[in-house]
Amino acid sequence: MTIHLQVFGSTSSGNCTTVWNERGAVMVDCGLGVRYTTRCLDAVGLDWSQIDGVLLTHTHRDHANTYTLQCMLRHGVKLMGHVDTLSSFLREHPVAAALDRAGLLVPFNGASLVVGPFEVASFAVPHDAPGGSHGYALRHEQAGNGATVAVATDLGQADGELALHFRDADAIVLESNHDVGMLRASRRPPWLQKRIRGAHLSNDESASFLAEAIGISRKAPGAIALAHISRECNTNALAHQCTAGRLAELGADECEIVATHKSRPSKIITVG
Ligand SMILES: [Zn+2]
Ligand SMILES: [Zn+2]
Repeated sequence: MTIHLQVFGSTSSGNCTTVWNERGAVMVDCGLGVRYTTRCLDAVGLDWSQIDGVLLTHTHRDHANTYTLQCMLRHGVKLMGHVDTLSSFLREHPVAAALDRAGLLVPFNGASLVVGPFEVASFAVPHDAPGGSHGYALRHEQAGNGATVAVATDLGQADGELALHFRDADAIVLESNHDVGMLRASRRPPWLQKRIRGAHLSNDESASFLAEAIGISRKAPGAIALAHISRECNTNALAHQCTAGRLAELGADECEIVATHKSRPSKIITVG
């Protein structure tokens, strides 16, 4: 069963990825402006009424835009996330209570969840947000044929345990946040550089993690979208070069590397 995926935008100023097929659609995060997000949906032939749910990775504001949340409230679109994340969100975010009153907050506790046509598995990632942070693997299975996409835009550190959640994925959206040399040469104070190093994967860390995930997979993913690219401490070219080098070492150079942007959608990835 075919799955389409498009990263509408992914930087520290806003994140949103949409995954869909002819049976339904799911968003991961809603951190971009409402008019932009609606335009992106329209461009791929979707509207808010077709969104079966928005999966929140964590509560940082670049993943949950107030106006987009208000739009979801108007259209009755559910916001889903780990129970601790949504509890924290309820305490922090003014729109969360309104979504809750409307029955549109759907907490879950690490178990898998069916959202529209997708079986969704969540996994904890070590990113520093109140209430924790999660990545998601979405799978559509039909008549023995399935496809899986795995999405994690803010990680912090990545280890072998985490790689298991990316095993055999047909498409991966993974952060490749900064180039270590550009971060060091930036005017960011040492404490902030340290925080960024702890909260996000560098290009090298991201490429190593992908190599680890591919190393335990039966096949390489068809496409990898490199996300949450720092505007000041990275470039798409550097992120691409780093990952492409590791994929070539693994003999996985047929895997397509897809660029993501701040305010321009990525190309549409189709798998399955
Ligand atoms: Zn973020
Ligand atoms: Zn974050």
